[in-house]
Amino acid sequence: MSKLDGKVAVVTGASKGIGAAIAKNLAQHGAAIVVNYASSRAGADAVVEAITSAGGKAIAVKADVSKAEEAQGLIEAAVNQFGRLDVLVNNSGIYEFATIEDVTEEHYRRLFDVNVLGVLLTTQAAVKHLGENGSIVNISSAITHVHTPAAGVYAGTKGALNAISGVLANELAPRKIRVNVVSPGFVVTEGTHTAGVVGSDMEAGFIAQTPLGRAGQPDDIAGVVAFLASDDARWLTGEVITASGGIR
Ligand code: NAP
Repeated sequence: MSKLDGKVAVVTGASKGIGAAIAKNLAQHGAAIVVNYASSRAGADAVVEAITSAGGKAIAVKADVSKAEEAQGLIEAAVNQFGRLDVLVNNSGIYEFATIEDVTEEHYRRLFDVNVLGVLLTTQAAVKHLGENGSIVNISSAITHVHTPAAGVYAGTKGALNAISGVLANELAPRKIRVNVVSPGFVVTEGTHTAGVVGSDMEAGFIAQTPLGRAGQPDDIAGVVAFLASDDARWLTGEVITASGGIR
């Protein structure tokens, strides 16, 4: 008996990077997975194929989490396909860096729409279906306390997410739905490649400040999420776990 046997999980932004690793890890522990993507259909299909070829259950569902109708459709797809919902992992996120001189309204809105509004919309849709022992895991970032220059707006989205998660932990506790946060340090992903962080001075700086002395990998984060999603973490709510090799 695996720790997520019989459970159904939606993982947002699971077409690549940390979300793909979380989806595969939760499936290895027995959960049926909804692999959400916004644009990377091939990436989502590859994650579904990896899960199903190992004997698991998964479907890919396209949805922009920052649009209410699409967020609702994502959650309904999970319930329609698998009959229930137990776990929501809000992993979708975008990061772009800008010094204060370069911050624009568009940059601010793009990041807050996906990283904050997107979490509110998927959570709002999910709480209609999450029963007792439901678990919500929000992926934040250690950047809220590492205070990396030029990350003001991105760090702001993740600080807001931490605050919202704490409120929701209390608000949903009477319904026995737990809400916890995982805050990764620097992780090598498609996103950090595209953002130009991998191979940059910023990456070298992160690794130099990391006591365990290396960059994080998506699987370093996925196991922590699987723990929080499972009943092993039944007495944890409102926690922020920094998964960063010790950087804080
Ligand atoms: P990534 O490789 O860029 O992947 C991002 C994922 O989010 C993709 O699956 C993407 O889907 C999805 N996404 C983007 N916009 C979306 C939207 N509007 N609706 C639904 N999905 C959307 O990112 P990552 O590095 O794995 O990061 C994942 C999470 O970890 C983010 O929340 C990020 O802030 C956080 N984090 C990352 C690091 C790091 O160093 N990598 C550190 C701390 C925290 P499509 O590809 O289909 O568009």
